[in-house]
This record gives sequence, structure tokens and C-alpha cells, in this order.
Amino acid sequence: MSASLGEKAVSRCNLFKSPPYSEEAEGLTRRFLTSAHRAALDTLTGWMETAGMRARLDAAGTLIGRYEGTGPRTLLIGSHIDSVRDGGAYDGALGVMLGLGVVEELARQGKRLPFSIEILAFGDEEGSRFHASMVGSRYISGTLKDDPTSLKDESGVTMGEAMRAFGLDPATLRTPPHRDDVFLYFEPHIEQGPVLEAENLPVGIVTGIAAQTRLSVTLSGMANHAGTTPMGLRRDALAAAAEAVLLVERIASTAQIVGTVGAIAVKPGVGNVIPGECLFSVDLRAPLAETRDAAERKFRDGLVEICARRGIGLQVKRVQQLAPCLCDETAQTVLADAIASLGHRPFTLASGAGHDAMSMAALCPVTMLFIRCRAGVSHNPAEHVEMADVDAAAHVMLGFLERLAA
Ligand SMILES: [Zn+2]
Repeated sequence: MSASLGEKAVSRCNLFKSPPYSEEAEGLTRRFLTSAHRAALDTLTGWMETAGMRARLDAAGTLIGRYEGTGPRTLLIGSHIDSVRDGGAYDGALGVMLGLGVVEELARQGKRLPFSIEILAFGDEEGSRFHASMVGSRYISGTLKDDPTSLKDESGVTMGEAMRAFGLDPATLRTPPHRDDVFLYFEPHIEQGPVLEAENLPVGIVTGIAAQTRLSVTLSGMANHAGTTPMGLRRDALAAAAEAVLLVERIASTAQIVGTVGAIAVKPGVGNVIPGECLFSVDLRAPLAETRDAAERKFRDGLVEICARRGIGLQVKRVQQLAPCLCDETAQTVLADAIASLGHRPFTLASGAGHDAMSMAALCPVTMLFIRCRAGVSHNPAEHVEMADVDAAAHVMLGFLERLAA
């Protein structure tokens, strides 16, 4: 029995790597409200019902499978079922499959716990289609403040239109559910970093998730002829952006922070025209909100200076700001006990990546279990986990549930 839980979760993730569960045959792409998303939900629903769960789709496209307990309270176990473009099989999906596998095991043993368990498969954590992330968990936790339904995907389809085509009513997004029965949200997830591998450990307890800010910067210069405009008379938006990118790197290298410019677009984007406009993203993350905010101020000040010196127009929009999230300390202790009783060293680490747990923290205490992944590679088809590690995670989860029930 002990190998089967890990094996089942891994093989289900692998099944979900290809069509119809992926939009593309090569490399996994499963974005919010696509036919690949629908296929995943249909199959998951079948598995949930076979395990004796009641499955339903909520207003934000989150599939929720409920396994009744004997008491009024509910434990949520979840992660996301969507992926980035050309992503890996385990990011998100593994957490869902592990939750499902653990409930199947309880059902197999005929066990009911003093609390109900709901397995959540969030449809949009990555924001890879509409560039609004964590829509599912923000809806449930009542933190979906800005209405995302008018956001468009790359073919001009709004989220609202896609929701209607999926059988969802965009208007109901405005009314979050009232969940006063929930006492904890538990998210198992691959680490997406190299720490557990370096520690030679299958799993780790997450202490918290870094504070994040995403900026969208537009620099406006003057497009002009690359041959006839003297260097001193140019207002080159891309040259200014180049300075800004290095500024982000410099600021992030001097503080407890990571900073990235991951997307950049140049207009008109023609070889013999001086760039007239440049749009780029800035991603800043730190364990503490103050560190992150200080870095953002430093960047904005530096950018104003760069643009003034170069005669460049400047617009900075903050497109996302996520508070740091601390994982529940009691749950961490219980997890540590479950891990130790299986013969592994309890080890704690912080998460630099964002997770649904961040938004869920507005609803209830949250806890996360990280699973080692090879070389820390994620958001990449090369993402890999060892079956034995997944098996260890499943047994840690069962031990955790047992302790919560006691
Ligand atoms: Zn993820």
C-alpha cells in the first residue's frame, strides 16, 4: 500500500500532461477556462465521486470535492490545476492529486474524521490567460476586490465571456461564499526551488510566503529614423529601460529581496527605428513587506531620475501587491510531528513563490508542505519529482490528519 499513494498521484499528474488535459501536444499548457481545464475538471470530478465525495464547481471555476466528516468543521486541502504556458506536470496538480489520494485512502479504510475535508482544485492561480492570478482562492477568501471579468486574453476574449462559455455566471463572482466552518487550509506543493534537494529531504514545512509586488512600467520616448537622428537628440525608450532593468538588479542585490524584469515589449519594434515606447514588468519579492516596499520606492526614485535625464515620459502602475503570509504555527508543529514519526528530519523553509495559500490566509489559518523537486526546476516541462518523495508527502498528510482528528 505504501508505494501506491505516491504512484497514483504521480501517474495522474503525468496523465494530465497531454491532450485533452493540455492545450498543446508538446509541453503542458492548461490555462483557466479552456477545454483543457474542462477536461481536467471532468476527470477530477469522476475521481472525487468514486471516492465518495460530493463534487461541485464554484463561481470562480474552482472544483470542490467534499468528504463528509462527523463534525461541523471543514479542513480545506487544495492547490491549482492550471499551468503556465509550457509548464510542468506537478506545479499545482500534485497538491490536488495528493489531497484526492489521501481522501481515497480514508474512504478505502472506511474512516470518517471529526471534520469534513474539501479538496480544492483552483482554476486560476498562475494568471497565464488573463493576467489576473489567484482568482479562485481570492474569490473563496473574499479578497477578489478588483473585478477581473473585463480582462482579456491574447485573442480578445474577456474573462466574463470565457466564464459564460464555461457555464459560469460572472456576476456571482461579486458575492464571495461565507465560510465560517473552515478551520485550516492545507496546500501541498512542489518546492520550485533547490533547498530540499540540498538538504537531502523529501518534504519541508513552509513557514511563510514572501511579500510580492508587480509593477507595469511604460516609458515613452520618440520613435525616429535610426540613420538620421544624432545620438544627442534621441529619446530612446529602450535605452532608458535598459538602465531601469539594471537598476532593479542592483537594488535586489543589496537587500534581502529578489527582483526580476521578466517581460519587455518595444514599439515599434523595427530594426531601423529608434524605440518610441517600451513596456516592461518588475517583480519584487521579500520575506517582509517593509523590505519590499523600500525597494519599490528606491526603484521608482531611480527611474524618475533616469527618465528626467533622458527626456522620457514615465508611467508606473502597480498591478499586484500581495502581503507576506505566515503559516500557522500550531499546524507547523503538528506537521513536524507527522514528519518525524515517519523517520524524516522536520525542516522548515520560506517560500519565494506565491501560492493560493497567500489569499486563503484572509479566510483561515494556512499551512503548506513542500515536496522536493529535481534541481528546483519548475514552470518548465523538465519539472520532476521522485515517486518516493510524493509517497512520503502522502503519508505525512495522513499522519497530519490523524493528529488533527485526535
Ligand atoms: Zn503552483
